[in-house]
Amino acid sequence: MKCPYCGYINSKVTDSRPTESSDAIRRRRECLDCGKRFTTFERLEDTPIIVVKKNGGREPFNRQKLLNGLRRAIVKRRISEDQIDQLVSDIEFELKNNFIYEINSDKLGGMVLKKLRQLDRVAYIRFASVYRNFQDINEFTSELAKIQPIKDLRKKS
Ligand SMILES: [Zn+2]
Repeated sequence: MKCPYCGYINSKVTDSRPTESSDAIRRRRECLDCGKRFTTFERLEDTPIIVVKKNGGREPFNRQKLLNGLRRAIVKRRISEDQIDQLVSDIEFELKNNFIYEINSDKLGGMVLKKLRQLDRVAYIRFASVYRNFQDINEFTSELAKIQPIKDLRKKS
């Protein structure tokens, strides 16, 4: 980082901390030539989050793609576009705030599901069935069981 006073290119970082909104890192630097201090901001948005797919392929986190999947899940449910938009933002924030720049798609799906579950159970199940590519009915049933404990399921004697 070039010193704004003398133009020297080397500086040392004397302090580093997230900004209040946590979307950037504020660094105090000291010029190694003139010794003056200055502040730089590094925005986390500039670093893309990489999603590692099941087949090992990697792609940048795609907000629109995730939103499209969520839109399909909330058809005819009482969830607004704003709510799913917020959900995606929350996830992005959570990842960046924890300095996670690479995540496998299963784990990302799990994060979405966890939040969707709090919003709407039907949307949750729909999204789960799409995202997790259920292999068989047992898997789907066990997912269902998680959201609606089956009280009536008693052993017949
Ligand atoms: Zn300087």
